Amino acid sequence: MTHCDILIIGAGPAGMAAALAAAPSGASIAIVDDNPVPGGQIWRDSPNANVPVAAQRMRSTLAACANVRIHSGARVISAPAPQTLLLEDAEHGWSLQWKTLILCTGARELLLPFPGWTLPGVTGAGGLQALIKSGLPVAGERIVVAGSGPLLLAAAASAHKAGAKVVRVAEQAGLGAVLGFASRLAGSPGKALQALTLMHPQYRTASHVIAVLGQGRVESVQLQQGSRRVEIACDRLACGFGLVPNTQLGQLLGCGLTPTGLVVDDWQATSQPHIYAAGECTGVGGSERALVQGRIAGLAAVGDTAAAQALWPERSRWQAFAQQLGRSFALAPQLKKLPQADTLVCRCEDVPYAAVRACAGWTDAKLHTRCGMGACQGRICGTAMQFLHGWEQPVPRNPLAPARIGTLAAIPLKGE
Ligand SMILES: Cc1cc2nc3c(=O)[nH]c(=O)nc-3n(C[C@H](O)[C@H](O)[C@H](O)COP(=O)(O)OP(=O)(O)OC[C@H]3O[C@@H](n4cnc5c(N)ncnc54)[C@H](O)[C@@H]3O)c2cc1C
Repeated sequence: MTHCDILIIGAGPAGMAAALAAAPSGASIAIVDDNPVPGGQIWRDSPNANVPVAAQRMRSTLAACANVRIHSGARVISAPAPQTLLLEDAEHGWSLQWKTLILCTGARELLLPFPGWTLPGVTGAGGLQALIKSGLPVAGERIVVAGSGPLLLAAAASAHKAGAKVVRVAEQAGLGAVLGFASRLAGSPGKALQALTLMHPQYRTASHVIAVLGQGRVESVQLQQGSRRVEIACDRLACGFGLVPNTQLGQLLGCGLTPTGLVVDDWQATSQPHIYAAGECTGVGGSERALVQGRIAGLAAVGDTAAAQALWPERSRWQAFAQQLGRSFALAPQLKKLPQADTLVCRCEDVPYAAVRACAGWTDAKLHTRCGMGACQGRICGTAMQFLHGWEQPVPRNPLAPARIGTLAAIPLKGE
């Protein structure tokens, strides 16, 4: 069993900012992240990634802090006792006891099922970015990017830079909604400039995927383009319908939740004592919002309330941006009609849509069809069924993730 004053889960923008804000206090800080290096989703590192200088500086400053321990390539398995988490890395499992916990667990992509979505060559939009950064060769490939939100343009730009030909960027939101969002960017010159540099000539609004066709691999994508149906020949589809906050660990610890993420107060404190949350697990809204929330959480955790309060106006600005993002890219109801009877909903357990659509809810579907019982533990199909049928997923139980027997054996016994 090891101990620390402040434990931060997630080393994305929020987690790194929280650690840097808390570090000058001298408190012993531990950061745990399942990626090989700090940076989170946006600053995912590899030989092909282009991590901004400011992010690299955050990383090296953290590495130089004697009171900060970074556990990369490690994930949270369970919460076996009060103020204790069980962790696992490639070599071992161990328990870590904390006095204050800051959850910075980020978000993941929302994937929706449609005919052909399990064919090789279909990935999430952010998923394609991550694959390209880790070395997937896409030079010369024709790629369709589809779904919703600004991540589509970022994925298209990464694919283009890696030598692919992006033949279509299909955004499900209508033109009015996208223009409304763009007009709000005028108040954030940095974001406006970023949007302009990412804009793609093949970007179409009011356009969504209907099906992917191909013999054993993606060969073309059918899209609904306004009132028309079009078919575009391609080698790959990158399709993501926005982001959903990663709230499982917070829920397991009893933190309150709204449909947009973990509930936090002005100090980024959750509804549980000594547990703070920052970044996209509290609502999706971009790295700038995650950074300022992380700083506030880190400062509040070490009692520097004056410095934390000074950051409230900046947080309000990015909060407004997040709300506009949510409104502009709200998913259209017709996307609920995408899966057909034989479309696999749960790809881990091969469960077709016909088997689950008559179920009364998530638990019923799990019990009768094994939907959500596979390796991803319902992270993909559970979120999809929440969108398609409004099914709430129950509060997760220990263990949060599949673990080695040796790790489970590290759970401290009562009184140990
Ligand atoms: C796939 C994907 C790609 C994205 N690409 C872009 C992009 O190109 N440009 C852009 O502007 N924004 C992008 N975003 C959005 C961007 O990631 C966020 O705006 C920003 O990174 C949020 O910061 P964060 O610190 O809240 O979370 P993240 O950056 O998501 O960091 C959270 C970290 O916590 C770790 N974690 C979560 N749970 C656990 C656990 N139980 N145990 C251990 N570690 C855990 C995660 O692996 C991750 O490293 C992307 C998002 C996703 C999901």
